[in-house]
Amino acid sequence: MAGTHIGERPAVASATVATDSPHILIVEDEENIASFARMYLEAAGFRVSHADRGDLGLTMAQEEKPDLILLDLMLPGIDGYELTRRYRADNATPIIMLTARDEAVDKVVGLELGADDYVTKPFNPRELVARVRAVLRRADHSGGATDAPKDTIIELDDLRIEVGGREVFVGGERVALTPKEFDLLVTLIENRGIVLTREQLLEQVWGFTFLGDSRTIDVHVRQLRRKLEDACPIQTVWGTGYKVPAKR
Ligand code: CA
Repeated sequence: MAGTHIGERPAVASATVATDSPHILIVEDEENIASFARMYLEAAGFRVSHADRGDLGLTMAQEEKPDLILLDLMLPGIDGYELTRRYRADNATPIIMLTARDEAVDKVVGLELGADDYVTKPFNPRELVARVRAVLRRADHSGGATDAPKDTIIELDDLRIEVGGREVFVGGERVALTPKEFDLLVTLIENRGIVLTREQLLEQVWGFTFLGDSRTIDVHVRQLRRKLEDACPIQTVWGTGYKVPAKR
C-alpha cells in the first residue's frame, strides 16, 4: 500500500559534494579567514577540512592525504615553512601559501621550500578558487609542464633524469627536487639551445594563472644550481632568461 511507504528516496541535492571531489586542507589559525575560504571552496564543490595549528595540519595532511593544502605561514605549533619542509620530504601534494600583503621574502622562502603558488591576503574568493583549480589541474597531469613520454630518460654528462618517475640523479645519487624545480629543469632541457625568458618559463611551468613575479624563476634556478652543483646545465643569458646549451 502506498500509504505505508515511508522510505522516501533521499533527494540527491545538487549541492551535495561528491566524495570523489578534490579534498582541500586549510591550515589557518585565523578563524574568519578559514571559514571564508571554506565557504567558497565548498560552494565550488570541493571537500574541505581545516586545521588551526601547524602541527595539527601536518598530522592531518599525512593522515587524510588531501589533494591540495592551503597553508597560512604564521601558525601556532609549527609554522607554514616548517610544515612545508617536513611534508615535502615525501609528498608532492600541491601547496598554496597564504601570505600577507607584500611579504616578498616569505614568498621566496615558500617557493624555495616547494610551495606551488601563493595567494595574498586579503584574497578575492573567486581568485582563490581559480588558483586552487589551476594548481590542481596542473598536478593532475603530473609531468606537468613536460610533454615527454613517461619512459623518457634524459642523460647529460653526470645528470640523469627519469621523466616518468620524476627522479633526478647526479653521478648515480638521487637528488630530491620539488615538483616545480623538476618541471623547470625538464622544460629547459627539452628546449635546449633555445633561450627561454622568465615570462615564458613562468607560463610553461606555473601556468598563465600564476600571478607571481619573474623572480620566482630566479629562485628556482638558484635552488637547482645549489642542489645539482656542477651537473646543473642551466646557463643565465643576461637580460633575457635562461637556457641549456645545445648538445656539443
Ligand atoms: Ca596566522
